[in-house]
Amino acid sequence: MELWFSEYQTKNVKLSFRVKDLVYTKQSKYQYISVFDTEDFGRVLMLDDTVMLTTRDEFMYHEMISHVPLLTHQNASKVLIIGGGDGGTVREVLKHPVKEVHLVEIDEEVVETSKKYFPTISCGLSDERVKIFYEDGIEFVKNHKGYDIVIIDSTDPVGPAVGLFSAQFYKDVSNALSEDGIMAAQTETPVLFPELVKRIYDGISSAFTFTNPYTAVVPTYPGAFWTFTMGSKSIDPLSREIIPETNFDTKYYNPKLHKAYFTLPPFLEDIILPVEE
Ligand code: SAM
Repeated sequence: MELWFSEYQTKNVKLSFRVKDLVYTKQSKYQYISVFDTEDFGRVLMLDDTVMLTTRDEFMYHEMISHVPLLTHQNASKVLIIGGGDGGTVREVLKHPVKEVHLVEIDEEVVETSKKYFPTISCGLSDERVKIFYEDGIEFVKNHKGYDIVIIDSTDPVGPAVGLFSAQFYKDVSNALSEDGIMAAQTETPVLFPELVKRIYDGISSAFTFTNPYTAVVPTYPGAFWTFTMGSKSIDPLSREIIPETNFDTKYYNPKLHKAYFTLPPFLEDIILPVEE
């Protein structure tokens, strides 16, 4: 007998995994959590039947959402991560000489699930520099300030994550950053959801002096081609000299390509950039 788990990426497109072992399921207060082992993508975490990560390709997403802003800033001490309860972004951020990392995750069950079933991803969550807040990130940013970096590692804009994509939220994030602070957010796929990507870009550019989208391949996310967007208050990310080596290992992020990640394919420029008169 074959057991398959599928994500409907749109109502006409499905990504399906043949399940080797069903490991864990739980309905939390916020979402349906499932963990299962697959033949080709290792262990998978789904929330509400949407892929959050697989142990095969998670490094592509977690490295790119972390190292691009941190190595652009170059002197970050205090970092805020909103969402990201699996711990993958925390693990990557801790490769930098940061002093404090605040993780604001609305659903404690996601953190507990990752600690139990994804040890290679959640390994940084017990680091003494990390403090976890089980709160709504939308409210949290209104009352906490002074961060060098804010990373928005959220689910798609449904349920409690809807407000994490609003222009007002990006303004609150900007206010929570120090004067040379930088935000990096996961900003969805232009392959399947171009209007959404454009709306998010407009929201971020209404809140920041510099708005710079960059891209990565994440095979198990819809469209397989993902955008992130950096919002910066005073540092022009593209004017920074980037040291061509890191003093830690990476598997996807390459400092020699740092600036190239911001060079967008023309179809994406056409989606997001304002039309010149
Ligand atoms: N890398 C993933 C992706 O793009 O599919 C995101 C992973 S991470 C598990 C996303 C987390 O955001 C979830 O655990 C979810 O509970 C959390 N989240 C959603 N809305 C939130 C909110 N308003 N405040 C804080 N965390 C939130």
